Amino acid sequence: MYDLIVIGGGCAGCSAAMTARQRNLNVLVLYAGDGALGKARRIDNYPGMPEAAGQDMLRIMRQQAQALGAEFKRQLVTKVLPMGQSFSVLAGNDLYEAGAILLAQGTSRVSPLPGEEELLGQGISYCATCDGMFYRGKHMLVVAGGVEAVEEANYLSELGRVTYFVEKPHDTAGLAEGIVLVKEKPLSFAQDGQEILLTTDAGQHRADGAFVLRPAVAMTQLLPEVQAEKGAIIVDKDLMTTVPGVFAAGDILGAPLQAPKAVGEGNIAAIAAAAYLRALMG
Ligand SMILES: Cc1cc2nc3c(=O)[nH]c(=O)nc-3n(C[C@H](O)[C@H](O)[C@H](O)COP(=O)(O)OP(=O)(O)OC[C@H]3O[C@@H](n4cnc5c(N)ncnc54)[C@H](O)[C@@H]3O)c2cc1C
Repeated sequence: MYDLIVIGGGCAGCSAAMTARQRNLNVLVLYAGDGALGKARRIDNYPGMPEAAGQDMLRIMRQQAQALGAEFKRQLVTKVLPMGQSFSVLAGNDLYEAGAILLAQGTSRVSPLPGEEELLGQGISYCATCDGMFYRGKHMLVVAGGVEAVEEANYLSELGRVTYFVEKPHDTAGLAEGIVLVKEKPLSFAQDGQEILLTTDAGQHRADGAFVLRPAVAMTQLLPEVQAEKGAIIVDKDLMTTVPGVFAAGDILGAPLQAPKAVGEGNIAAIAAAAYLRALMG
């Protein structure tokens, strides 16, 4: 049980983790990758770090947060479940619990394919580690949104037959022998009896199940209770979302998409989360 789980290890998440530790909160940061900051070759407008490469900034920020006592785990969060006065967070096949949540996933917008959300848990999965064993000896389709999917597809290929589709271009050189790479654009999912049907720009493919492996998860799936407008999460002046106990900071709140803004918001949201938790305990 953590006081605060931060979803996202970019500059908003790191800043929030540091401030939360200063307020003596027990903090876990779950992050899928490096986010926008990791792609920035050079940042000139960040105070105190002139001409910094995004990767260097990220490394220093994570080290600083860890030195203050925040725990970091590299895992994609697939679900946040409100449980009365706490929250359960599903990441990989691990379940964590916290009194408050901070959403800091950046702008990584995800558009599910038609049919995908309806069939989630009924033939479509986001987690190879969690659900792979259900398809032992069977045929699986993988719709891959990034290079992280290669390793997961390789794991699935040890269990059964895998056909791999590229949703967003990435390096597939590491795919295990035996995985069939189909160069067709995935368009939609449907169900036919016990089978999953994937329609592409060149035809249809059927299998016993499908894994959609992207480096991010749509807000509608992660925490549908949180309201957004024009792609930005709605928050109050304390950066609390429409769900009490869930805060948000950084690019996920919309423009300007800038590192110093993300850091400032991480700080505000962490202070507000600490006050929220204090009030909860009376
Ligand atoms: C090429 C480029 C150049 C830039 N140059 C500048 C500049 O010069 N100056 C400036 O101020 N800003 C610049 N920016 C913008 C700046 O990088 C962003 O504003 C800033 O990184 C936003 O921080 P963030 O923490 O909100 O999001 P991000 O840095 O994008 O971090 C998001 C984090 O969330 C994680 N995540 C997402 N979904 C999940 C999930 N489901 N589970 C777990 N983790 C998840 C990601 O892996 C990542 O760790 C640039 C951006 C880019 C792409």
